Amino acid sequence: MSLLELSPARCVRALSVNSECSHCSDSCPTSAITLLGRLPAINQSLCVGCAGCVAVCPSEALALDDFNPSEFFFSFLNDDESVVSCQKNVPCIAALSVEHLISLCSLKKGLVLDIGHCGSCDIGSYVLEMMEERIQSANYLLEAIEVEKSVVCEERAYRSPEADEPKDRRDFFKTFHLRRIAKAKHDFEKEVQRSTDEFIEASIDSSHTKELR
Ligand code: SF4
Ligand code: SF4
Repeated sequence: MSLLELSPARCVRALSVNSECSHCSDSCPTSAITLLGRLPAINQSLCVGCAGCVAVCPSEALALDDFNPSEFFFSFLNDDESVVSCQKNVPCIAALSVEHLISLCSLKKGLVLDIGHCGSCDIGSYVLEMMEERIQSANYLLEAIEVEKSVVCEERAYRSPEADEPKDRRDFFKTFHLRRIAKAKHDFEKEVQRSTDEFIEASIDSSHTKELR
């Protein structure tokens, strides 16, 4: 599972006492972010790693440890297809902001969001509602800049080829290969953080001074 990380010095609420930015908590389908304090507080046990908050943060203050939006962007541009799916290239279609939809659709001459898994997903209805608004805004602007193609939703229900591979004994023993031990340790530490069922508020200290400047 993913771990959501906040760089406090990048959050606009840290940069300006007058900032009322709340994009991250407003877009979270599981209420895993609260802004009761000055800076966002994250409850890792509630976070499902959809990247919805990462997509809308104006200052790239949030990041998931297992999803890199820039890597996705460039690999998507090299992909023959123009399909975005939670089973293919993003943790959730919520990982795309209005700006992402516009740029990807205009560069790829069309964009399909696979909503074929949303019906069986706990956050599916929330995400569909949120994405409807983003798609409308994106298509409105695409039309305004005279891009002929638009962003569309289709029930493709994409499945990765690996998802259908049978699990055999070799897979089991591979788990214990030395190269996997480091990863297992990292995963364990992550799970410890994720199991903390409380909101951890970020804070700014002297280690952030350079970044703040
Ligand atoms: S990654 Fe998704 S579930 Fe996790 S805090 Fe962000 S919006 Fe909420
Ligand atoms: S959306 Fe980004 S800048 Fe705004 S409060 Fe959340 S972390 Fe801070």
